[in-house]
Amino acid sequence: MAERAGCGDFDPNSLPAEEALRRMRAAVKAVTGAETVALSDAFRRVAAADITAAAPVPNSRNAAMDGYAVNALDLPAGGACTLRIKGTAAAGHPFTGVLQRGQCARIMTGAPLPAGADTVVMQEAATVNVGAAAVTIGAGQRRNQFVREVGGDFNAGDTILSAGDFIDAAALGVLAAAGAASVRVVRKPRVAFFSTGDELRAVDQPLAAGELHDSNRHTLGAMLRALAVEAADFGIVRDDPAATGRALGDAAASADAVIATGGASVGDADYVRRMLGEMGRVHFWKIAMKPGRPLSFGEIGGALFFGLPGNPVSVMVTFRQFVLPALRRLMGLREAAPLRISARLAAPLQKIPGRLEFQRGILALEKNGEYTVRTTGSQDSAVLSSMRKANCYIVLPPAQGDTAAGAAVTVEPFGVWI
Ligand code: AMP
Ligand code: MG
Repeated sequence: MAERAGCGDFDPNSLPAEEALRRMRAAVKAVTGAETVALSDAFRRVAAADITAAAPVPNSRNAAMDGYAVNALDLPAGGACTLRIKGTAAAGHPFTGVLQRGQCARIMTGAPLPAGADTVVMQEAATVNVGAAAVTIGAGQRRNQFVREVGGDFNAGDTILSAGDFIDAAALGVLAAAGAASVRVVRKPRVAFFSTGDELRAVDQPLAAGELHDSNRHTLGAMLRALAVEAADFGIVRDDPAATGRALGDAAASADAVIATGGASVGDADYVRRMLGEMGRVHFWKIAMKPGRPLSFGEIGGALFFGLPGNPVSVMVTFRQFVLPALRRLMGLREAAPLRISARLAAPLQKIPGRLEFQRGILALEKNGEYTVRTTGSQDSAVLSSMRKANCYIVLPPAQGDTAAGAAVTVEPFGVWI
């Protein structure tokens, strides 16, 4: 559906979200600088260089099951066979002898196959004879079964980590398996953040009527902690042009990126965008998105600047949809999109056409194998507790309006998108 001024929630001055993201991508470059850190300090950092494996993992053919190491030539196509047990191979304690025809070794998971054996027969398919000197094995075994091949995980020369990879728990484990004791990682960008608002008090301060505790710095701080950034909390800034200008200047002088919440709109006490315009460059300041219309993005000195709306839900939505993609680029991560899936609406939802909308949703896998989603109810951007009931965003394109139960919608599950 084409958007027209005066139609639904369309604002001719606001930028389509896609265009805003494109402008942001064009403006953000990865920080320069890298450092070498011990593997234990590489968690949640970004790889600055490729790492190739020096040796294969595993470095020997070994058992994938507890059982008996045998030579497949001893196993008849039909019927059973009986093999003499010559010893035991356990993980860390290989069997050092050579098995002859008609012989086998007891073997435990992870133990290298003894010379002369090529196949593992699982314990459950074998019967130990009286005296435990021999074992009888039933029909139906296959050559090379239950054996982990050399390099089955990765081979010497394989790239196990690429520049731009996020080092998560799995990456850390793969690096450890490869014996990488240290890793070259991208320098952590410095991200300064502050709240604005005369009504805000720190969490340990009492409230007068009309005041509220500053929750944004806590959600923001927590979201930043999941990233490879050095976050610096610049506190609460008063609704005053001079104070806002000072905070912007100080934060921008010390950081690669600055995030402010509140004061982003066009109210009498909204100074953030105004001061950004005076002190730096505004790339955009209004997006056709809900929540988050008064989101501004620009640069002050050498720092990127994000002016997020004050409402606590808007902060979380705009952080994920705009700040996170920008910080990903700044951190040196490769481009990636968040996981989105299709789900059926379990109940109707309301939407005014005109803006890309992110509603808080509850996603469930039904017994018939289909995903369904319903909203958390009121979509007021001030109701932060509803974010806790949600496990996903329902992503609704600008043209969409009220939608009936049973319709397919796009859903973005929560979780760290990195
Ligand atoms: P603003 O964008 O400054 O007009 O703020 C929009 C709404 O968000 C107002 O109701 C503010 O009181 C509220 N708000 C702004 N900053 C915060 C904050 N740090 N924590 C909680 N609520 C806030
Ligand atoms: Mg305010």
